[in-house]
Amino acid sequence: MSENTPITVAYGDGIGPEIMQATLDIIKAADAKINIEVIEIGEKVYNRGNTEGIEPSAWNSLLKTKVFLKAPITTPQGGGFKSLNVATRKTLGLYANVRPCVSYFPYVQTKHPVMDVVIMRENEEDLYAGIEYRQTDQVMQGLKLISLPGSEKIIRYAFEYAKANGRKKVTCFMKDNIMKFTDGLFHRIFDKVGAEYPEIEKESWIVDIGAAKLATSPELFDVVVMENLYGDILSDVTAQMTGSVGLAGSANIGDNCAMFEAIHGSAPRRAGQNSANPSGLLLGAVMMLAHINQSDIATKVHNAWLKTLEDGVHTYDIFREGFSKEKVGTKEFAKAVIARLGQKPTTLKPVEYHDFDVSMKPYYDYKNSPKAKKELVGVDIFLHWTAGTADELGKLVENISDESLELVSITNRGVKVYPGGLSETFCVDNWRCRFIANEKITKHKNIIALLDKFQKAGFDFIKTENLYTFDGESGYSA
Ligand code: NAD
Repeated sequence: MSENTPITVAYGDGIGPEIMQATLDIIKAADAKINIEVIEIGEKVYNRGNTEGIEPSAWNSLLKTKVFLKAPITTPQGGGFKSLNVATRKTLGLYANVRPCVSYFPYVQTKHPVMDVVIMRENEEDLYAGIEYRQTDQVMQGLKLISLPGSEKIIRYAFEYAKANGRKKVTCFMKDNIMKFTDGLFHRIFDKVGAEYPEIEKESWIVDIGAAKLATSPELFDVVVMENLYGDILSDVTAQMTGSVGLAGSANIGDNCAMFEAIHGSAPRRAGQNSANPSGLLLGAVMMLAHINQSDIATKVHNAWLKTLEDGVHTYDIFREGFSKEKVGTKEFAKAVIARLGQKPTTLKPVEYHDFDVSMKPYYDYKNSPKAKKELVGVDIFLHWTAGTADELGKLVENISDESLELVSITNRGVKVYPGGLSETFCVDNWRCRFIANEKITKHKNIIALLDKFQKAGFDFIKTENLYTFDGESGYSA
């Protein structure tokens, strides 16, 4: 018999302790081979003045066990508190958020009786890098960062997950018709990594029409992979479409650590009443068991849970008069699942988990891959300026051009306003002046000289962005 796997458990706030107890009772009854280390997180820790909601000793446990089963916590109202979820994801490098969204019709009412979709959300990059600036009186900026390794990790995870779980298709959502560099990269990596999985069907959709299709015909989708922001929105939409957000669990996976939870919050008003539905956390725990290579236990628990649902033993949130057989509390629900361990559902589809090595195929070798020939060909200089029209700005900037760098255009919110702009274009106080090297390549010192001229002419330059080519290909949007 194999050794027990150490896991870190947090009972959380609100309904957290009740649903965690129910979850642990069930998986222990199913013979999960785990050693539990309990840590305290959330409200009590925040209220002790710790703005992170977690003590250093708790991090030690997480870094040691590398497996975290987490009940929901209450985030205190008011500013100054950091999101524990964001901190956990970033500190433990949890790059993949996995959220299976399944319909349990007719036991749970839904407009989409046939639905079994896994939303695979990139968890570390995109606009969530949190790099934001106020640049002028009128303009704020947030940077969308998409990296090659970050995209490869989540996309490869999506394909490996599909392969291990008998899934047939992986769909990619992005918007590379507009964001040619960021989303274009994500799409290219999807095609490249996807080619290594010939047995899996591949499909790409522009996120808007893809989301519309997902919302109306979820039965056409299987695993759907996307960047952080799209995934944030669509994982909630998709979970809601199943009829109950209370039933979904999620996994946050990293190369070395993983966190498992319910997708709902701590429902403080329900706390201490033995009424909350533990299913979301239980399904999170089931994903954990599969992750720690106890797929047989995961399968046993999940099928017993499906049978309980099918037998009409329901907590208040899904109970329907005349349809459900028995309205139960949290503890009684757990007992009902335990009583059905070893049974399979008969109308709902039984599940089967397989052990799945997250270390996966090795990533591309970024360190040793050939580097592109990178050449500095120009610079965008952003100005905070309110003293006149686009034409007037153009004339002023023409005057201060450097001999090696030539002003080619001025844009405002991405619209060209000089030369040859339209007076109808609405302009804000943030202008981008694009300079291109007249001898194809320039040097950093030319850019510094140019900036010096801007400063002497009294301009407030708020940012510069160097323009490069990579192996002759433009590295900036036109
Ligand atoms: P919530 O998910 O806690 O509750 C929304 C509604 O769903 C409530 O009506 C609640 O009673 C019901 N509900 C939720 N879980 C249920 C369950 N298991 N069984 C039965 N009914 C359930 O969302 P909220 O009210 O917006 O947030 C409450 C607190 O939870 C906030 O402090 C919020 O910050 C926190 N939160 C934490 C997490 C997390 O820890 N991962 C996630 C979301 C919200």
